[in-house]
Amino acid sequence: MRSALKKLPIDRIRTEVRSIDGYHLKSYDCPVKLNQNESPFDVPKVLKDQILDRVSKRQWSRYPDPMPMDLVETLAHRSGWNPQGTIVCNGSNTLVQLVLSVSTSTGTKVVIPSPSFSLYGLYAGIYGGHVVNVELTRDYRFDMTRILDAVTQEQANCVILCSPNNPTGCIVSNEDLEELLDSTDALVLVDEAYGEFSDSSALDLLPNHPNLIILKTFSKALGAAGIRIGYLLAHPEITREILKAKIPFDINVFSHVAAMCILEHDDLVEERVSYIREERDRVFEAIQSTKGATPYPSHANLILFEVHDPRQTFQALVEQGVLIRDVTSYPMLSRALRVSVGTREENERFLESLSQTLCEPVPARN
Ligand code: PMP
Repeated sequence: MRSALKKLPIDRIRTEVRSIDGYHLKSYDCPVKLNQNESPFDVPKVLKDQILDRVSKRQWSRYPDPMPMDLVETLAHRSGWNPQGTIVCNGSNTLVQLVLSVSTSTGTKVVIPSPSFSLYGLYAGIYGGHVVNVELTRDYRFDMTRILDAVTQEQANCVILCSPNNPTGCIVSNEDLEELLDSTDALVLVDEAYGEFSDSSALDLLPNHPNLIILKTFSKALGAAGIRIGYLLAHPEITREILKAKIPFDINVFSHVAAMCILEHDDLVEERVSYIREERDRVFEAIQSTKGATPYPSHANLILFEVHDPRQTFQALVEQGVLIRDVTSYPMLSRALRVSVGTREENERFLESLSQTLCEPVPARN
């Protein structure tokens, strides 16, 4: 019999963790899938065959490289940065977690604009961090004055800026970012998962700002979410510490080979990125001229838009085979939906279903 003093096994799990609601993504079976900001273009068959051929020549009984140096060097070189300041990991989400794991403990202040990518707050909370959310402006842009104030007043240890931001598509300009970097010694983590779809990148600021950390991924513009590769760029004194928390051999043989092969075919990526950017602008205008929908300008491969009854609109689209993202549970976004930019055909299916579904205009916000 359990004594009254004895703890339950669940009590051994930290309270911070138990109080957090995990990351959930409900799955729907829809032919048009515009809910995860993925690339609509698969890795071409010839490239897949090349990858599989190279993978089959590797010895699977052996561990992969603890750190795949050819991949690290290629990514560093493409970014105009040094390999010592570059970490490749099993997806950029893992890198968010790693950075927070070495910088956050109970009570550490982490400033995060809101709404933004939900995993930042979730991981910060898991390490016991105290998340200070700074709301975006009413038109869903970063409020840099308030972010700066929060970082200073709260003596934050870390700020996480998603630029372009998921789910709103806004960016932080390098001018604003530089001001922030110069006014604080907090770590400034800039997640550029959607960076290729915008004209802006914090890379130029890296040499002169040792508190800047940049994240990139293969999951969006590079069209390879399935291979789980992300990378981080920062000053070597920072990466040296982050590396201590990284699990060795996390990049498996397949992901390593696939990432190298994809990087050898840059032309394909450029072509696809410009297609998506053109489609994004076209879809934005089409939503804008759809009665009852208000889109917000985006620098990513996603568009946030407001409608009168988002849950009903979401459901109606699902019934027509079009899956987008219901973001109504995010702060400020009780009227919003988010759509990823797909192929022209997919976007057309979405736009047709949307205009069929909507009949009421969006009432003005208070
Ligand atoms: N950062 C942001 C802002 C994202 O929205 C996502 C995925 N939705 C990721 C990172 C995920 O990156 P990865 O697939 O490299 O883990």
